[in-house]
Amino acid sequence: METLSRTKIAELLKSPVFDSKVNVKGWVRTRRGNKAISFVALNDGSTIHNIQIVIDIEKFGEDFLKPITTGACISVNGLLVESQGKGQIAEIQAEEIEIYGSADPLSYPLQKKGHSLEFLREIAHLRPRTNTFGAVLRVRHHMAYAIHKYFNDRGFYYFHSPIITASDCEGAGAMFQVTTLPMKEVPHTKEGDVDYKEDFFGRQANLTVSGQLEAELGALALGATYTFGPTFRAENSNTPRHLAEFWMIEPEVAFNEIKENMDLAEDFLKYLIRYALENCYDDLEFLQKMYDEELIDRLRFVAENDFVRLTYTEGVEILKASGEKFEFPVDWGTDLQSEHERYLVEKHFKRPVILTDYPKEIKSFYMKQNEDGKTVRAMDVLFPKIGEIIGGSQREENYEKLMARVEELGMCAETIWWYLETRKFGTAPHSGFGLGFERLILFVTGMQNIRDVIPFPRTPNNADF
Ligand code: ATP
Ligand code: MN
Repeated sequence: METLSRTKIAELLKSPVFDSKVNVKGWVRTRRGNKAISFVALNDGSTIHNIQIVIDIEKFGEDFLKPITTGACISVNGLLVESQGKGQIAEIQAEEIEIYGSADPLSYPLQKKGHSLEFLREIAHLRPRTNTFGAVLRVRHHMAYAIHKYFNDRGFYYFHSPIITASDCEGAGAMFQVTTLPMKEVPHTKEGDVDYKEDFFGRQANLTVSGQLEAELGALALGATYTFGPTFRAENSNTPRHLAEFWMIEPEVAFNEIKENMDLAEDFLKYLIRYALENCYDDLEFLQKMYDEELIDRLRFVAENDFVRLTYTEGVEILKASGEKFEFPVDWGTDLQSEHERYLVEKHFKRPVILTDYPKEIKSFYMKQNEDGKTVRAMDVLFPKIGEIIGGSQREENYEKLMARVEELGMCAETIWWYLETRKFGTAPHSGFGLGFERLILFVTGMQNIRDVIPFPRTPNNADF
């Protein structure tokens, strides 16, 4: 076969040079036709669109072509011509074909279209080959890139917070332990406790639930930082919005107060949504057609309209006056459930909402305490279909106030002494927030289940592949 440099299908369809000789490589989506001609729809992952390969059967022989079935991988040299058929601008008249790998029709699971998302979760090793996961994974990539671009363009530094941590008092959720102690004979101290002196780090260690505490150290040196890494929570919450392993983006900015923190969160989310509309339109159109007919309108609406800002206290009053029957009752002091958040966003205001000034009892120790002695300067951003997409706050920068809260909560100050020291040496007002990456991808793609927006979802009883 003649050596031609490969062109990606996205490139061919974007700027086709008709009557030129090209090479494409990819996976067969379908093959149909008659005794004389075969039409192969080929996809190489560079775009949701396939390119049609037109094969003169006599030229290659039926035996040679037999392994070219759904799922097979081939390389094709041929002439790029304007397409006669509708729905495509270009097609390739095959001149030479190499078959890299066949896919036995009796055992290849992705034979037909329209497999359920539940079924596809059972074949996570193959589901990136479907149109749906191709689209979702391309959007995911573009969002990751846009996040780095957004911060880089605004002078934030990417700060790598550790994945293994010894501070177990962040309180964001149950943690996974990291240990090399022998499971069968765990060493014990004289007092009968596990002897972590024998463990790899000489103390108990866990996978991080958030990079925030470390990000604060970064911000108090570099001015503005962000983390973007995996975080882990061992809660047994089997919901469509929780994973045991998920990615989080945590900007942290010295000198920002709560108002600037809200402005940053709103501007950041709108930027990402606009970026998706500008750079992933074909994939979003596909997802809209298949799963969510209001997707693009909803994205435009959120990108173009101001978020509503109100306090938790005002939010609770609205919920109590709503006359809605909620599964979980609301009263001042209770944590809001997803149903409450979605009521405010979808039914009451019909736009994204930023709720602030939550009761201190339901928020983390590090949030800046308000004058009222009851609330803290927290801010949650609530989105349609999702509920909480961002959680953040202005941080308590006063050492005495922070320590008082640590003691009040009976926390283990000795594992976060380094964090507390930042309030002793050159403390400054600062704020930040955490955006759950998969919640963002849920919103942007219109998918319903968080297991379908990450290549390999980790949930209770599921870490197979
Ligand atoms: P929720 O109340 O929805 O469980 P949270 O308040 O525990 O979330 P935070 O600790 O504030 O979450 O984390 C910041 C962000 O990380 C959340 O706003 C959300 O977008 C995301 N997030 C939190 N937990 C998970 C999870 N288990 N899986 C995926 N994303 C998550
Ligand atoms: Mn939160």
